[in-house]
Amino acid sequence: MADVTIIGAGVAGLWAAHALSQRGITPRLIDRHGAPGAHGCSWWAGGMLAPFCEGATSEPAVIAHGQRAASDWAGVTEVTQNGSLVVALARDRAELDRFARRTSGHDRIGGAALADLEPDLATAGREALLFGTEAHLSPRRALADLVAALAVKGITIEQAEATPDDIPGTVIDCRGLAANLPGLRGVRGEMVMLRTPDVTLARPVRLLHPRHPLYIVPRGDGVFMLGATQIESAAPGPVTARALLELLSAAYALHPAFAEAQVIETGADLRPAFADHVPRVIRRGRVLHLNGLFRHGYLMAPALARQAADYLETGTKGDLFHED
Ligand SMILES: Cc1cc2nc3c(=O)[nH]c(=O)nc-3n(C[C@H](O)[C@H](O)[C@H](O)COP(=O)(O)OP(=O)(O)OC[C@H]3O[C@@H](n4cnc5c(N)ncnc54)[C@H](O)[C@@H]3O)c2cc1C
Repeated sequence: MADVTIIGAGVAGLWAAHALSQRGITPRLIDRHGAPGAHGCSWWAGGMLAPFCEGATSEPAVIAHGQRAASDWAGVTEVTQNGSLVVALARDRAELDRFARRTSGHDRIGGAALADLEPDLATAGREALLFGTEAHLSPRRALADLVAALAVKGITIEQAEATPDDIPGTVIDCRGLAANLPGLRGVRGEMVMLRTPDVTLARPVRLLHPRHPLYIVPRGDGVFMLGATQIESAAPGPVTARALLELLSAAYALHPAFAEAQVIETGADLRPAFADHVPRVIRRGRVLHLNGLFRHGYLMAPALARQAADYLETGTKGDLFHED
C-alpha cells in the first residue's frame, strides 16, 4: 500500500486515487494527457446516476452498486437529486409499459403530476415513469472537483505515458480502452450539446423511441446534453451525420422548441466494455485493472474504486473482483 501508482486519470483513475487517499494512502497518479479533457471517455458523459433506469438492460450488480453512487459523489461535487423521468410518445405507450415491467423504483405519473414536475413536457395524454431517487451531476465539474480534492491531499496528475510494466510496486491500471485487456471492446457513444432558453427541465429525461432512444440532461443556463448513441463499433472520430440526425429528431419529438436550439458542441468516444457490461477489478500479479465501465463510469467508479482499495488494504475480494 505504500507504493501505489495509478495510470489513467479518467473517472476510474481519479476515483481510485480518491478511495486510497481516504485511507491515508498517497498514490502516484499518471496520465498521458495530464488533467481530464476531451481525450478521455469520461469527458463526454451525460452524468446520469440512474441505477434503476439502467436496470432495464443491465445486470443486478449495476443496480445494487449504482444506488450508492449519488451519496458517494455528493462527498466531492454537486449532485442534483431530482429523480429522472422516462417518457414515450403517445403512439409508443407500449414501450413505456415494457420499460416499467423491466425496471423498479418508479411511479407512473401523467397529466397533472407531470405538469407539476416538468411543465414543458406535459402534453395531452402523455404519461411518464418517475424514478424519484435517481440523480445527476455535471461530469466535467465532477472531474475538476475530484482533481481539486486530490490536490488537497497532495496528489497531482503527472503527465506521462506509461504501462504497468514500466512501473515498480503496485499498479492500478485505469487506462480505459487503451489497456487493451482480453475481452474488452469499444462501444461508440455520440452526444450533442444544445442551448435554448425555450425549454426548461429540472431532471434528466429519457425518451423511449423504438428507433432512436434518447436522453436529455439539463446542465443549467439553458444548456442540455443529448445522448447517446450506442454503436457496436470501435471506430474513433467525430460525430456522424446519422447520429446527429437521430439525436436531434428525437429531441424535436420530445419538444419542438429544440429545433431552434443552438448546437454548441458535439462529441464522441468509445466506452470500454466487457461482454456482460459489468465493470471489473481484475488482479494480475501486482497489477489491478479497473475497467469495463461501459455506460456506467459515473455510476460505478466509486464502487469499483472502493473494492480495489478494500483489496489492497485488507485482501477482501468484492463481487466485482476477478483474478486472472
Ligand atoms: C456519450 C457518452 C455518454 C455517457 N454517459 C454516461 C452517463 O450518463 N453516466 C455514466 O455513468 N457513464 C456515462 N458514460 C460512460 C463513461 O463516460 C465511461 O464509462 C467512463 O468515462 C470510462 O472511464 P475510464 O476512466 O475507464 O476511461 P477514460 O475516461 O477514457 O480514462 C482513461 C485515461 O487513461 C489515460 N491513458 C490511456 N493510456 C495511457 C497511458 N499509456 N499512459 C498514461 N495514461 C493513459 C487517458 O489519457 C485517459 O485520461 C458515457 C460515455 C459516453 C461516450
